[in-house]
Amino acid sequence: MPCEAKPRFVVLYGSQKGQAESIAEGIADEAEEHGLVAELSCLNQNEKYNLEKEKDPVVFIVSTTGDGEPPDNALQFVKSIKKKTSDHYKHLCYALLALGDTNYANFCNCGKTIERSLQELGAKQFYATGYADDGVGLEVVLDPWIEGLWKAINGALSKMASDRTDYSNAGAGDLIMETPDSSIPDVQLNLLRITDQKDCGSIGASVSKCATAALASAVSDLRPAVFPSQPLGTASVSAAVPHVTLAASLTHSLPPLSESSLNVPALPPPYLNVTLKEADTVQQIVGPSNKETLHEVPISRALQLTRGDSVKTSLLLELDLSAHPNLTYQPGDSFDVFCPNKDSEVEEMLHRLGLYEQRNHSVHISLLKDTKKKGAQVPAHVPPNISLLYLLTWCLEIRSVPKKAFVRALVEHTEGGVQRRRLQELCSKQGSADYNLHVRDQSLCLMELLSAFTSCSPPLSLLIEHLPKLQPRPYSAASSWLRYPGRLHFVFNVVEFPACIARPAGRRGLCTGWLFDLVHPVPVFQEKAAWPQIHVSLRPNSLFRPPSDQSVPFIMIGPGTGVAPFIGFLQQREMERKENPDAMFGETWLFFGCRHRDRDYLFREELEGFVSSGALSHLKVCFSRDDPEEEEEEEEAPPRYVQHNLLRNRKHVTDILLKQKGFLYVCGDAKNMAKDVNDALLEAIRAELQVDQLDAMKTVALLREEKRYLQDIWG
Ligand code: FAD
Repeated sequence: MPCEAKPRFVVLYGSQKGQAESIAEGIADEAEEHGLVAELSCLNQNEKYNLEKEKDPVVFIVSTTGDGEPPDNALQFVKSIKKKTSDHYKHLCYALLALGDTNYANFCNCGKTIERSLQELGAKQFYATGYADDGVGLEVVLDPWIEGLWKAINGALSKMASDRTDYSNAGAGDLIMETPDSSIPDVQLNLLRITDQKDCGSIGASVSKCATAALASAVSDLRPAVFPSQPLGTASVSAAVPHVTLAASLTHSLPPLSESSLNVPALPPPYLNVTLKEADTVQQIVGPSNKETLHEVPISRALQLTRGDSVKTSLLLELDLSAHPNLTYQPGDSFDVFCPNKDSEVEEMLHRLGLYEQRNHSVHISLLKDTKKKGAQVPAHVPPNISLLYLLTWCLEIRSVPKKAFVRALVEHTEGGVQRRRLQELCSKQGSADYNLHVRDQSLCLMELLSAFTSCSPPLSLLIEHLPKLQPRPYSAASSWLRYPGRLHFVFNVVEFPACIARPAGRRGLCTGWLFDLVHPVPVFQEKAAWPQIHVSLRPNSLFRPPSDQSVPFIMIGPGTGVAPFIGFLQQREMERKENPDAMFGETWLFFGCRHRDRDYLFREELEGFVSSGALSHLKVCFSRDDPEEEEEEEEAPPRYVQHNLLRNRKHVTDILLKQKGFLYVCGDAKNMAKDVNDALLEAIRAELQVDQLDAMKTVALLREEKRYLQDIWG
């Protein structure tokens, strides 16, 4: 008897750093368990899919990058879909998961753009769109969204099949996929509690309604259409932690979790065959594998900007670019630093995997012949003929937080009832809160997890399958070429991960810790020959530049190391003023903030120098941790954060932005700073223009559209 073909659906992804891709792959892998066949493609592989003729449900998984841009591999798709007209996708039935980060402007913008276009082109949504927020952890939305997806696909498939039958019986008419309630707002699925899903019906459209209804009861106010004003998800994260008491730990759970039956996700299919071979021919590469495309430059100067007793250590490094005539930059540009994993951690990992003796063996990777993984590929970031030592040092982000799929895979390599059960809990639906609390929020890395789960012995192939590519770290240029020809400055805080049970000694950030070690103790090296070398590549940012018309005023907001690009802006302005003393220059404002006036007032002398020279018209500095009693007697409490100063100067700010058509730049690493500044701007506009919140939001949206409100925010 011929086998009946399984129902199919299509999964399309657009992914910048591989997250959307791995989620899409996970969905494709899990499909079989639900009796479905998934056809997986990247949005730029248009030879592999054909939306024009697609009759089965389509699931889009798309991330957003930069200032709300589509990932590179979705760019063409977004461009082309925007050009289509009328009912082009009337036949299409879709669901969409958008990935984003609320620390950045234009949260999930790529997903929203695709969704808007699909709807304009007549496509029917069969499942509520999920907006997963990396700022609070993608899982909060991701897990319930994927869980509900299967019913929704099956519902959509049956509906489409019955509509097709009706269509062929009737012989005329359109394929009608019930459009989900047109009142479905632009919602945050992360506010949908998992329990709310139980009541959802099996038809896709009703899943959407159910999600909407759950949301309506979970939140009374919808988030603003343009920017979220609250740190999203915090409430839902804590709401999802009812079972955790302080006594639970990474390795031990408490009732009810320890006693409950678990919904453990499907095992991600293994797909790599990895062998180690003793070889004389193994390439002794040193440094990043793509170094032909990078520039190797010396660090010519290092300066500690904070006092020894400051909570944070901020360093300024100077790079000597003089040997690279093509390597020039503009203020506002940033550049990538390529750093290796820490030697001691690589060594520890080699020991833990039982492969220390084979560290110089060459690594051979091929696809498992019978793998069930959809779209399986040998990772492109692992070059051929490298040693195991090199693989762990330069190719894999061994510090990354293991995703739940990785934890699930680790279960299969763990002995002992208790440890195995605990790993199962951590990747299960029921153990989500424990995973967030003990793994994600602690930024635990694989080695820390393996130290706690002593009976877990993963094979090397599992690490290559699950650890992402080692990413370079970007830093903003904190100098102007005009002021320092052939030199580039950047500033950073040395990231400190606090100690926790699985990490008793704490640790430094990978790149900032490495840079710190390279130049420690500071200030260093008189001898040019002894200057440490690092690999960098430039990341031009053609938008984040001072106004090309020098007479246009601009405002800069950058607390802490967020001041970096503005030092470049102001050095440039100072030089331009020297070169053209008679030219008309617009006003410049800087809102700057640090913790203590004495300990960590970065660039104090330089900033005051800019004021004296006239390059900076107004310097507004605040100190978040200075004791108010130490402050001069003032009627009002002193401003603590940049947004307080912005509000105090709201008349000037709105005047510059709205009357004089000036620019506003925001830069920094403070998690909520960009949101707080945005809120303060809305408030300033509301108060000065005497308009309501909606009108203020429209004004701010316009500023962004005109590229006069620009952000460079890192999380
Ligand atoms: P990693 O080892 O990668 O760890 C950082 C991660 O840990 C982050 O995800 C962070 O959320 C998290 N984390 C940080 N501290 C803690 C903690 N205490 N506990 C738990 N988790 C923590 N940085 C600058 O300092 N100066 C700049 O000028 C600058 N410019 C940038 C420009 C751009 C365009 C971008 C995208 C980023 C920029 N950054 C800048 C950030 C920088 O690239 C690095 O992310 C940062 O220096 C940390 O790198 P790391 O490898 O030391 O930390």
